[in-house]
Amino acid sequence: MFNVKAYSAAGATSPLASTTIPRRDATEHDVQIEILFCGICHSDLHTVRNEWSSIMPTVYPCVPGHEIVGRVTKVGSAVTKFKPGDLAGVGCLVDSDHTCPNCRDGLEQLCPNQTLTFNSPDKHLGGVTYGGYSESIVVDEHFVLRVPSNLNLAGVAPLLCAGITTYSPIRRWGDIKGKKVGVVGLGGLGHMGVKFAQAFGAHVVVFTTSAHKKEDALRLGAHEVIISTNTEEMQKHAGTFDFILDTIAADHDINAYINMLGRDGNITLVGAPEKPLAVSAFALLFGRRSLSGSIIGGIAETQEMLDFCGTHNITADVEVIPIQKVNEAYERLVKSDVKYRFSIDMASLKSE
Ligand code: NAP
Ligand code: ZN
Repeated sequence: MFNVKAYSAAGATSPLASTTIPRRDATEHDVQIEILFCGICHSDLHTVRNEWSSIMPTVYPCVPGHEIVGRVTKVGSAVTKFKPGDLAGVGCLVDSDHTCPNCRDGLEQLCPNQTLTFNSPDKHLGGVTYGGYSESIVVDEHFVLRVPSNLNLAGVAPLLCAGITTYSPIRRWGDIKGKKVGVVGLGGLGHMGVKFAQAFGAHVVVFTTSAHKKEDALRLGAHEVIISTNTEEMQKHAGTFDFILDTIAADHDINAYINMLGRDGNITLVGAPEKPLAVSAFALLFGRRSLSGSIIGGIAETQEMLDFCGTHNITADVEVIPIQKVNEAYERLVKSDVKYRFSIDMASLKSE
């Protein structure tokens, strides 16, 4: 075991502050990674503030961060995929049981015995797992991703969660080429959804509450932008969408978006608001529409997504911040004031 610098929250209303945490010594299957950048996902904020207390209560101190990119510093004797000096990524998962039907199908994100990167029981050290707002992390090589060498690393980090969370449902929907696809909410997930939907040839429409994001949405690859607070604009598009990805992090009227779907259209929720959403049965019945959910993606699909990003030069649009600005960044995230992902330069932790 060794200690590393990190940022943690002591409670739901405490700011994140400098601390030290233990990491395990690399076992034979482990990869030790020096963390270079870590994205700030809205899930970090939900967890730090214990907003998901009824589903997964937060254990404090909490070290969030599951959009990790870094450099390998050490590997165990049985590791074959990595060597010291390689770039590596870690997303939301650091372990699963490898034996359940989901794991056997490469869907580790659905394993009932998965270990999340933070706030999950830590099988090695006891307590809970600690995430990427830290100097380094030690992870079983199965859950470590290869990072294309041609991409900007600050913009790669968010691919490990925001990227795969939007890539996976878009791929699962099928061939979206020429289809009318909506992305609701232009934040970290939403802006990646726009990039992927555009890359796969869809007619992409962004729904946003922030009129000032319109030009960015078009630059990111959207063909049209709807200001969702404008009823008239919404009405014009009612019943016309094939597929909608809802990334909203807060309470909202989902029926307004279900009504945008055409016959057999699907809306997939990836956003995880604190409170349950009220769904109108009639909104689904008329039009035979469906509502589903999706959570990150499996390890093989995450690698596929990273390789796709390498080939197509796709990264997140990031605002790079030092770790000392993390509390300010959280306040801005609550106000939807981020273009379009904060990425923490972990070199800033060295001065703590
Ligand atoms: P984010 O960067 O804060 O973006 C969320 C966007 O939602 C905002 O930028 C805003 O877009 C819109 N929004 C916020 N409050 C709203 C409100 N009251 N009404 C309507 N729109 C609102 O968050 P994120 O990191 O993309 O995460 C989004 C959600 O996905 C979070 O709940 C997060 O926990 C969840 N998540 C789920 C998974 C998964 O596997 N399913 C993975 C990662 C994250 P506009 O300004 O454009 O309106
Ligand atoms: Zn996330």
